[in-house]
Amino acid sequence: MTQENQAARQQKRREKRIAKSRRQCHCCRQVFMFCWHCRCGFSMCQACMHENAWGLTCNGITWTCPDCGEQNGYGNQ
Ligand SMILES: [Zn+2]
Ligand SMILES: [Zn+2]
Repeated sequence: MTQENQAARQQKRREKRIAKSRRQCHCCRQVFMFCWHCRCGFSMCQACMHENAWGLTCNGITWTCPDCGEQNGYGNQ
């Protein structure tokens, strides 16, 4: 909710390049072409995110990284 978080989120949005085309979900340990990911390195696949959405997002706009507590954008590609 802080200005700092908003700035970080905007900066993240600009980084559209994907260094690696595949990511490993930290939850189910499977490798996916797309995972939600936090800048701390935490990744979660769409299925796991969907399953855990009740605990990770309270507004459907951001999700909270369980690793570092960072707020990440939810729903934007
Ligand atoms: Zn998963
Ligand atoms: Zn994190």
